[in-house]
Amino acid sequence: MKETEKKCYYLGQLYPIHIRIEDDISSKKIEFDGERFILEIAMPQDDAIEQLLKQFYTRSLTKLLNKRLKFYQSLMKVKYKGFSIETHPQRWGSCNNAKHLTFHWQLAMFQPEVIDYVIVHELCHTVHLNHDRSFWRLVGKYCPNYKQIMPILGTEKTRT
Ligand SMILES: [Zn+2]
Repeated sequence: MKETEKKCYYLGQLYPIHIRIEDDISSKKIEFDGERFILEIAMPQDDAIEQLLKQFYTRSLTKLLNKRLKFYQSLMKVKYKGFSIETHPQRWGSCNNAKHLTFHWQLAMFQPEVIDYVIVHELCHTVHLNHDRSFWRLVGKYCPNYKQIMPILGTEKTRT
């Protein structure tokens, strides 16, 4: 097993990435044991590693979103149609007229309270489609520290 210099964030914590080089060219596997990521792969190139991480994040985020959306949906008494996980360069999440939500797969890198903020933000759009004062009042009701959380998400993809 080869320890790489690479580390990655998962749910707000930094974990090392270990790589097991496999002879089988088709071998591609990713596991997380609570302390590190273990990748079994034939060609440990950056894009192959990123691809595996994206797979893992997407799976993990789907599970987490299913749970948290259910929780906030009944707490906030709102309804959404469904959700999908996407790679949008300019936003962390979205909500359209049909109340379908999207979330960026890289959200899995952030701590759960940050993910919760994006969930609350998108669910508030099922009530208010724009970012007016009543929208932010509703966000603040279910996520009182949203002003501290927003800068964590950075400036590039602040649109949600
Ligand atoms: Zn928004």
